[in-house]
Parts: sequence; structure tokens; C-alpha cells
Amino acid sequence: MPDPCNRCGKCCLHMRKYLVIEQSIGDSQHYCRFKLTNQRFFASIGGNELMLFRDKNGMSAYPDACPFLRMDSPGSFYCTIYSSRPDHCRSFTCS
Ligand code: SF4
Ligand code: SF4
Repeated sequence: MPDPCNRCGKCCLHMRKYLVIEQSIGDSQHYCRFKLTNQRFFASIGGNELMLFRDKNGMSAYPDACPFLRMDSPGSFYCTIYSSRPDHCRSFTCS
């Protein structure tokens, strides 16, 4: 079955006020809190995702975006903590 997500990013472009990085250890390890549910979680970034996380090209136009969202090609967004994203993001289904 094809992936229904076209990576438009709309679900993440206004999440900055809810997803807070409380402490970072370099660029790759982040203690975070998801304020809507008060979930604390640890986000780890490695490999190609770390390179992408460091590359903020295109994101200045989206100041309200989740701090972990990046644009990997024009109009196409990518979650750099996909494997350690909070429960809310895991259970989100696009309608
Ligand atoms: S899940 Fe998010 S990025 Fe994917 S299509 Fe839906 S709104 Fe866009
Ligand atoms: S953690 Fe990932 S899926 Fe959740 S809001 Fe941020 S970029 Fe989107």
C-alpha cells in the first residue's frame, strides 16, 4: 500500500510551541517535553538525519515549526527524530 503521507509538513509546521527542547547534549541528544501531553522524551539523532538536522536551509520561513523538522527538498519536510518522536506524533493519522 502506498504511503499516504506526501511529506507536506503541515502537521509539524506549527508545533514549536508544544515541542520544547529542555536540554541538549551537542546536536545529537536532546531531552524534550511535549507540552500538550506533558510527555518527557529523549530524542536521539544520528547519521544522515544529524546532517539534515544541522542544515536549517529553508526553515527560516517556518519559525513556528517543530525544532526537529527540516526541509530535505523544496516543499518536502522530514522529521529528524522519527524513530524517537513523542507518542502524540506516533499516533497522529492524517485525515
Ligand atoms: S501526515 Fe503530515 S506531512 Fe504527511 S501528509 Fe499529513 S499533514 Fe502532510
Ligand atoms: S517530532 Fe517529528 S513528527 Fe513530531 S512534530 Fe516534530 S517533526 Fe513532526
